[in-house]
Amino acid sequence: MSKSKPKINVIGTGGSIAGIGPHRLDYTQYAELGNKFTIEESLQRIPEVGEIADIQSENLISIGSGAIGPNEWLRLAQRINNILKTGDVDGVVVTHGTATLEETAYFLNLTVKSQKPVVVTGAMRPPTAIGTDADLNLIDAIRVAASPEAGGKGVLTILNNEIHSARDVHKANTLRVETFRANELGFLGYSDSDGKVMFYRAPTRRHTSLTCFDIDGLTELPRVDIVYAYGGSDSLLIDAVRRNHSDGMIMTGFGAGTFPPEMLDAGSEAVKEGIPVVIASRSTAGRTVITPRTTKLGFIVADNLQPPKARVLLMLGLTTTSDHDVLQQMYLEY
Ligand code: ASP
Repeated sequence: MSKSKPKINVIGTGGSIAGIGPHRLDYTQYAELGNKFTIEESLQRIPEVGEIADIQSENLISIGSGAIGPNEWLRLAQRINNILKTGDVDGVVVTHGTATLEETAYFLNLTVKSQKPVVVTGAMRPPTAIGTDADLNLIDAIRVAASPEAGGKGVLTILNNEIHSARDVHKANTLRVETFRANELGFLGYSDSDGKVMFYRAPTRRHTSLTCFDIDGLTELPRVDIVYAYGGSDSLLIDAVRRNHSDGMIMTGFGAGTFPPEMLDAGSEAVKEGIPVVIASRSTAGRTVITPRTTKLGFIVADNLQPPKARVLLMLGLTTTSDHDVLQQMYLEY
């Protein structure tokens, strides 16, 4: 009896992986023109996936990922939870623009309630360009989602044959196909030309079914803004966040979490007004750490989460609590 193939649901959201350029040498203008293939048209380009899995597909949205934010994260996570709960599906693939792919992937990593593989992919060169990575990345994503070893590892990303944890990955280069990096933490494995999916390590932080977040029925998320430290930065941006009465703020500091004096004072005022403030770093690797001063001023530290992901976690954390210590603990666990 022949073994049945894994059933994979592919959800299209747009991005370069679906982009239609004006000619074969266009690597930038397609995004401004906004024309896109449907996910069915993308799949028709790679009939080889029929050997790997039985595919169902749907177009959730069709936009550049610069236009994807909290509303789309909620829709996508709710849709995936629904598919994995009710459908006869072994894994889910999401195609997405690379600009905010890391934020969406981390949001899903914290809100999808399943141990089945969920894999997010994109492309740096649209399918209409010479040397496109769109087709291979989509095949790889389906291969990873169809692989039992990918289960239980949280949401994964794949581009350039490299599998990353959604928590650690970020877009590190504006144009190169090897843009997705986890700095010194490294990637988790490969999807390679011999058709094998190989894992060498697994994430240690809590994810998916093991988080305390439940976004079922949620229609909006708390508003969290990010401000950035630079030589001589003062209270201007933080005052705007305070005036706006945002629900939370990420302060992106130097190194392990320091700021120009005026900016620090403004951040401390925000905490006194009841705005939870998380300290992240503008360095792209390493931790921000709890010090006597951060403790005294009531700040939370982001550990090694980059600012956009520290924001995602605070938005979700604030749906469950506003307690400083509980929020701080989340940054050490998720
Ligand atoms: N503009 C694209 C986006 O949707 C970029 C990409 O997909 O690489 O993020």
